[in-house]
Amino acid sequence: MVRCTLAHVDLAALEANYRAIEAFVAARTPPARRPPAIIAVVKANAYGHGARHVALALERAGASTLACADIEEGVALRRAGARGRILVFGALSVSDLSGLFDDDLTPTCSTPGAGRALQAAAAARGRRLRYHLKIDTGLNRLGFRHDHLRATLPELFASPNLDLAAVYTHFATADDPTHPLFDLQRQRFAAALETIRGLGAIVPARHAANSAAIVRDARTWHDFVRPGLLLYGVSPAGAPADLPLRPVLSLRSRIVSVKHVRPGEGVGYGARFIAETPRVVAIVPAGYADGLDARLGGRGQVLVGGRRTPIVGAVSMDMLAVDVTGTTVEPGDEVVFLGQQGGERITVAEMAAAIGTIPYEILCRIGARIERVYDEAR
Ligand SMILES: *Cc1c(COP(=O)(O)O)cnc(C)c1O
Repeated sequence: MVRCTLAHVDLAALEANYRAIEAFVAARTPPARRPPAIIAVVKANAYGHGARHVALALERAGASTLACADIEEGVALRRAGARGRILVFGALSVSDLSGLFDDDLTPTCSTPGAGRALQAAAAARGRRLRYHLKIDTGLNRLGFRHDHLRATLPELFASPNLDLAAVYTHFATADDPTHPLFDLQRQRFAAALETIRGLGAIVPARHAANSAAIVRDARTWHDFVRPGLLLYGVSPAGAPADLPLRPVLSLRSRIVSVKHVRPGEGVGYGARFIAETPRVVAIVPAGYADGLDARLGGRGQVLVGGRRTPIVGAVSMDMLAVDVTGTTVEPGDEVVFLGQQGGERITVAEMAAAIGTIPYEILCRIGARIERVYDEAR
């Protein structure tokens, strides 16, 4: 049994996006240099798309490294059959570290305490552990402060069981072309790398660029780039022409009921929508429990019969209403929340803008109740 509200995930589009990013960075890397490799970011259930299928599709497309938020996600990726390297971004202080060893995950070390815990865990198992070192260059979230490295790093670098595999940082404002912090972070990262070399460490690889930085500034690419959003076919701020992306996810449902509303009557909880003239509303069985934000009521649109149709009244937990006055619709007709129908398309970016949030949140909040259906790559 399958509910009629479905998320279709186009794995062929995902793989095409992976290759498009690869081609984009390769084309813009000077001939004498090696283009950056891709760390494909699949945290948060692959931005709501389903980590298992997405991880395997990305590996098919050539991804040698995946990245996730925590050890638990990394273990799930291994269980799903991911064979390449798996980088864990998150802090480790409250995690069971055994997954790192049992499932061959690569941790991020972002505090001196994490370094001690990793060293102790590796020593206790008689193992060596590769790790990526995170430098905080201004995001003020995770990472060793860029201006305190001479004090904080020597102990980590002296850890007998730990091998530095890469050094990275993360940008706070890559998607804001006017914000000066981006350039400042780039410069601080360069200085941090100098300091690290000055401490005698060999830095096998460096990385910094999320999707917005990939599109924005080739100087941030280094040895790896770390796209998330771009893989899913969403560009943070207008993709360049030579980075063609295809939307990966579409969200569809069906009309389950059609209702005639008389002037003066309200629709839905709170009677927030009042019909001024005779209206016809169609009820769609998807609501905020499915990740359709309550703020879409009165703000968002869907596609019905190839036309844009407004969401009216309050979004409820399991259903919402759209105004289909003047069209001929009946139960069973397709409703598109995200994706294409006829010549019209509603993008993740459009839905995010309608309710004042970011595309990431729209994708990540698509509910667990919604089945993901995979169109396999051919
Ligand atoms: C989520 C994340 C990314 C990917 O970000 P996008 O903006 O989706 O490309 C890259 N690096 C780190 C550290 C992240 O947490």
